Amino acid sequence: MMRRLYNFAGGVRLKEHKRESTSSPVGRTQLPQKIILPLHQHIGVPAKPIVNAGERVLKGQVVAEAGNNISAPIHASTSGTVLAIEDHPIAHPSGLPARCIIIKTDGKDEAAGGYGAPCDTSALTQEQLNAAIKQAGIVGLGGAGFPTYLKLANEAKKITTLILNGVECEPYITCDQMLMRGHSADIVRGLVIMQRALGIKRAIIAIENNKPKELELMQEAIYEAGTPDMELVQVPTVYPAGGEKQLIQTLTGKEVPSQGLPMDIGIVCHNVGTTYAIYRAIAFNEPLISRYITIAGSVAKAQVLDVLIGTPVSHLIEQCGGNRKTLSRVIMGGPMMGFALHDDEAPVVKTTNCILVNSVISDVPLPSRSNFSLPCIRCGACADACPVGLLPQQLYWYARARDFDKVQDYNLFDCIECGCCDYVCPSQIPLVQYYRYAKTAIWQQENEKTLSDISRQRHEFHKFRQEREKQERELRHKQKRQAVDGASTQDNKKAAIQAAMERVRRKREHSDVTPKNIDNLTEQQQKLIEEADARRKKKLEELKPEKITINTSGRESE
Ligand code: SF4
Ligand code: SF4
Repeated sequence: MMRRLYNFAGGVRLKEHKRESTSSPVGRTQLPQKIILPLHQHIGVPAKPIVNAGERVLKGQVVAEAGNNISAPIHASTSGTVLAIEDHPIAHPSGLPARCIIIKTDGKDEAAGGYGAPCDTSALTQEQLNAAIKQAGIVGLGGAGFPTYLKLANEAKKITTLILNGVECEPYITCDQMLMRGHSADIVRGLVIMQRALGIKRAIIAIENNKPKELELMQEAIYEAGTPDMELVQVPTVYPAGGEKQLIQTLTGKEVPSQGLPMDIGIVCHNVGTTYAIYRAIAFNEPLISRYITIAGSVAKAQVLDVLIGTPVSHLIEQCGGNRKTLSRVIMGGPMMGFALHDDEAPVVKTTNCILVNSVISDVPLPSRSNFSLPCIRCGACADACPVGLLPQQLYWYARARDFDKVQDYNLFDCIECGCCDYVCPSQIPLVQYYRYAKTAIWQQENEKTLSDISRQRHEFHKFRQEREKQERELRHKQKRQAVDGASTQDNKKAAIQAAMERVRRKREHSDVTPKNIDNLTEQQQKLIEEADARRKKKLEELKPEKITINTSGRESE
């Protein structure tokens, strides 16, 4: 039964320019003298180097481990010696350099132990498959660079459908097409591994209807693999049909929620190149160290090459017969979503799918590549072309005015930067550049806010600690004072005892005084004297030192 397809809003039809690079077979790059491996080639935290300058490394050896759970390790793509770990020009719209591991190649291409060893994939459990995919450093090769193992984790059993994205809708880019042409059976095997890793059966393979040859090859591969749960679907050739959200809508009629992910609606989407990389990693213990890349434009021979990750772009241009001296511009990516390189010594990374050289981009006359633009005439053409249903002119106005709250109200972060609005704008306004600028500014503000929140928390904790230390200090002083007071009370007690003893001593002296005028006493007088003596004696008995106790005021008492 034919699957019903749905249309997404907007989109544009573009000249394809695919034939130039698909008319010759896939080539291999000559080994460059240096391999430059940026530590940040994926979404998430940069990888952490585990090698040092001067160290010899082998092909497939881990040279940087994943920075955390949202990260991916990086492997040496050939053997050689680590020259340095330092900042180097990379492929980024900002043109800023970034930390890279630079390896001087030795031409031996000597592999690390176990590299390329065949493995019985059917013996591996779901957990072992995921762990191997993680260890192989595989990320989304379609351009996003999201660590693949995270997209294959399906513990909550929310994902029910796996889509293989074979829709390569941007002009010039042909690497997935050539991969399907040469490795359709391996791609289907990779898809089976992904189904097992996800613990699901349902898979849809989507290919544009302008690739009949690849469609046929994939059909044969599915048949030979005997996998009836895979459905092959032809989708219309319209840009950007290969966008993840647009493809899901075309195939299922479901819309991924604003700022949501496909897994929110039970779907996960993977690229053809990623699927092939998974197959090589699981079946042959080959980490991600190379990929197919289209080199097109002002070169003698446009071609798809199997390129080692970390190869300088200049090396590829030279190999395809480009003259670096006459270059005016090199785009990494396609003409719609790519960006101009500031330095062609920047290396290709895991997410690089195309290098577009020089004046060829005039065939797709993007306003963002032109040097002038006119005022917006509010024609609304950009809104009609937007495949996400945004209002590009409003986004443009607010991004230009730096009103970053408003621009988010208009769902800036749903923009996939497809460039359709740019392409149709009669005023040639570089709209996407404004959106990229606004996104970067908002991320920067959020970073700054996070940093200032951290600083404030630190300051508050510092104040709290100072207050606590003050209280502890005061408590210690108080205890010390009490100890001193306590000691002086003891002294008082001793003094009181001394005084009491002195009084006793004096009374005793008094008691030893010889009585006077005691002659010729009457009986009555004698009796009074004896009674007085008895009372004195009794009193003296009572005043003996051992019977004296001292109260807290320091006065003696019984
Ligand atoms: S297409 Fe260009 S000129 Fe027309 S509304 Fe959009 S931004 Fe303005
Ligand atoms: S670049 Fe963004 S705003 Fe412009 S058409 Fe594409 S999704 Fe819409």
